[in-house]
Amino acid sequence: MSATLVYTHAACLNHLPGPGHPESPERLQTVLRTLRDPEFAALEWRDAPLGTVEQVELVHVREFVDEVAEISPRQGYVPLDGGDTVMSPGSWEAVMRCVGAACAGVDAVLNGDARNVFCATRPCGHHAEPGRAMGFCIFNQAAIAAAYAYEVHKLERIAVVDFDVHHGNGTQAAFYDRPALFYASSHQSPLYPGTGAVSETGVSHNIVNVPLPPGCDSTLFRARIAAEMLPAIRDFSPELIVISAGFDAHELDPLAGLRLTNEDFFWVTEKLMNIADETCQGRVVSILEGGYSMEGLAGGTRAHMRALLGMAN
Ligand SMILES: [Zn+2]
Repeated sequence: MSATLVYTHAACLNHLPGPGHPESPERLQTVLRTLRDPEFAALEWRDAPLGTVEQVELVHVREFVDEVAEISPRQGYVPLDGGDTVMSPGSWEAVMRCVGAACAGVDAVLNGDARNVFCATRPCGHHAEPGRAMGFCIFNQAAIAAAYAYEVHKLERIAVVDFDVHHGNGTQAAFYDRPALFYASSHQSPLYPGTGAVSETGVSHNIVNVPLPPGCDSTLFRARIAAEMLPAIRDFSPELIVISAGFDAHELDPLAGLRLTNEDFFWVTEKLMNIADETCQGRVVSILEGGYSMEGLAGGTRAHMRALLGMAN
């Protein structure tokens, strides 16, 4: 099966963190506009199903899940993590569509219905820890996808690879003591949330952090990824690769200071697909994380999707 599926849902536009918040519905509209271009006519579109509480609880503790469900407002806004992470009346369905898309994406690649999958969903998830929402993220759909592949599909080795400019502290926290789950992250350091040192290695070297200095350009990024991240993923020999695909390391992004170009997102995606081809029949589930320059988000998404489809850069 050679198809690339895109999972999305209109409900993901109804998570409204408030005026001026960088994690805006406009972000997803930008991604969807990019993917609806005629150059991507080969994409097969699917409505994201609703995730289940059981799926969420593969990563998150029950008390936290109950708290999020109970706090979900009928009107107005409720803060979950200071002012950074906010729930509006549409947020519960939005995050459950994020979770449902991620798990349906795992089903699709493992059942042979697709070669790879992109989840065009929001809000992002990688800062959400097992017991708390954080950094625009409520539930951690990439970590849930990996845990779902482990628990439901009985895979023994699942890798989440995260090139968002921020460290995915939530994914790291969820995986730290679980040798079957591998997390590799490149991220700017110093930067929010402050975790992601090389010394944070997990219980069995199942965590690989590649902190990058502010101003890091294509040349340094590619050298560090090639030396420190790709060999570790290859050694782990994943049966599925989940990508936390954030595009805020783009040179145009207003929230960070790396200098990646569209071509770098193509490059890193292609490298990850090569490993997936070697270790797991190309099975990749990519999930949208951050990206706050609309131009950078569109350019990065386009490059990432061209790679997922096997098109030339
Ligand atoms: Zn980010």
